[in-house]
Amino acid sequence: MLFTDLKIIKPILDALQKEGYEKPTPIQQKAIPSILERKDVLGTAQTGTGKTAAFAIPILQNLTERPLPKNNYIKALILTPTRELAIQIEESFNAYGRNLPLKKLVIFGGVKQGSQEAALRKGVDILVATPGRLLDFIAQGIISLKNLEIFVLDEADRMLDMGFVHDVKRIIKLLPPRRQTLFFSATMPTEIQKLADSILNNPVKVEVTPVSSTAETIQQSVYFVQKEDKLGLLTHILKNHISESVLVFSRTKHGADKIARTIHKSGISAEAIHGNKSQNARQNALNNFKSGKTRVLVATDIAARGIDIDELKFVINYELSDVSETYVHRIGRTGRAGAEGTSISFVDGLDLLNLRNTEKLIGKKIPVVKDHPFHTDNLVAQKRDSNNKPAQPRAEKPKPANKADTGFKKPKNKSFFRKK
Ligand code: AMP
Repeated sequence: MLFTDLKIIKPILDALQKEGYEKPTPIQQKAIPSILERKDVLGTAQTGTGKTAAFAIPILQNLTERPLPKNNYIKALILTPTRELAIQIEESFNAYGRNLPLKKLVIFGGVKQGSQEAALRKGVDILVATPGRLLDFIAQGIISLKNLEIFVLDEADRMLDMGFVHDVKRIIKLLPPRRQTLFFSATMPTEIQKLADSILNNPVKVEVTPVSSTAETIQQSVYFVQKEDKLGLLTHILKNHISESVLVFSRTKHGADKIARTIHKSGISAEAIHGNKSQNARQNALNNFKSGKTRVLVATDIAARGIDIDELKFVINYELSDVSETYVHRIGRTGRAGAEGTSISFVDGLDLLNLRNTEKLIGKKIPVVKDHPFHTDNLVAQKRDSNNKPAQPRAEKPKPANKADTGFKKPKNKSFFRKK
């Protein structure tokens, strides 16, 4: 199937050709016709499947073909959980809509509102927003959604994870009842299914690659290593085995900083990206990584969601997440839209349980690579506490053997046992 078979208009076809897209991905093949017919869509799809284009292309086309009132009202709203995702979605709209006169804007929190506000006042057709900033602007009377025609809720499950569901529900209440709604989520937990049922009108269901499966094009491997050797192993791999860009995942912000600092010191350009960094610092780090100025980007899961780097070939999991689905999202940063990719996971005693759960989820064993100087066969499975440290076993309450033993105190500075 080709994009022309989907009845895409010429200005968009030309833009897609410029992007180098040859044919629609499965989600695009399934979703675009229904969205063009103005139907509601419930899409189960993870990032990396071409989901953004699956809604952006038909939205651009619908807004172009329909005679719209020439006013400053927002016609399409895309709500997404993170700033990085929001920026990337707007970039996609700009790319596919480069030959169309529609005005697009992205708004998100964590930065001053001045320039976003000025752009809004000039009029916007397609708005990409994170929930908090959108509600702020609505409360200030700067944004009205009363003429909205199309609403997209992107990464709904992530909204739930990040505690945004309440904000999302408040926004939904402000939407006009007559509208087209497109709902996308990588997974469909009950709460998300309920939300979908409450806002969709007889939706067409579109499902591609469930979250539990990893792309066949990604070569996955596990390296067994003691926790204290992980930095050494990472440096070793970056110096001897990989000469290209690598995205490294860290469980914690502090860990991300430490990893980036250490490898930077060893002469490999590296930066960290996480929620404690300012929006500008995050964007700079991302731009440096995309342009190849920085070879290694160390990211936490939330900061990395939506990082869309064409041709990223390597992902390293410095630790495995307790949430097995996270593994699928992480390695989905590589091997995008059918390209080849490699994922390496460092596993110490604290990761063993997560490795087992991850393998259960994806339904296959991940091969262990032993051919490296830090390999160990002696890992002992341990539980992790919230500080990324081994959880201490709970101290058992000493049981007095008999009444006479209670209240006995060890005399200070004296040996507990008398010398015979
Ligand atoms: P997404 O799932 O929206 O995050 O997109 C994943 C990646 O696939 C992005 O880098 C897109 O630019 C790319 N992509 C989307 N659609 C196509 C297509 N039809 N052909 C090739 N690449 C695509």
